[in-house]
Amino acid sequence: MAKLPVLRIQELIYPVSFYRNKAVHVRRTCEQIMTRFGGRVPSTMDELLTLPGVGRKTANLVLILAHASQDNICVDTHVHRIANRMGWVRTRTPEETEHALYRATRRRWWSIINLYLVTWGQNVCRPVYPLCPQCVLIDICPKIGVTKVGKRGKNA
Ligand code: SF4
Repeated sequence: MAKLPVLRIQELIYPVSFYRNKAVHVRRTCEQIMTRFGGRVPSTMDELLTLPGVGRKTANLVLILAHASQDNICVDTHVHRIANRMGWVRTRTPEETEHALYRATRRRWWSIINLYLVTWGQNVCRPVYPLCPQCVLIDICPKIGVTKVGKRGKNA
């Protein structure tokens, strides 16, 4: 990977969002993994955060998926939004949400919160027009910040 042309990496990761920028980061990260870390993906948050384009979201995901960590929560936009709508946290940024979720949730859920909430956020608790009327959580969810809801098949 570290030797591939950036254009080839673009082709390989398309159609992820921002694939041009990400291809540059992937190439530079792979180079640094070879030169600085002996060809092994770092296993600490501090080391991962030194790599190009790697923030806490990516670092947490790498620790969970590549190093089987049970001690990390990967917070992306879906996790941040749903955790606030459900009232688990009251936070303004994904990083605040991550730290608040360590306090608000049991450890056994930490490594899989992202998997569940991303799927939920893409299909039910959508950013715009969430499907509250059809949601199985309607009776227990406070729907904090939700002003407009959608219907399945509409506003999709
Ligand atoms: S009731 Fe609405 S806001 Fe609450 S989890 Fe379901 S879709 Fe999201």
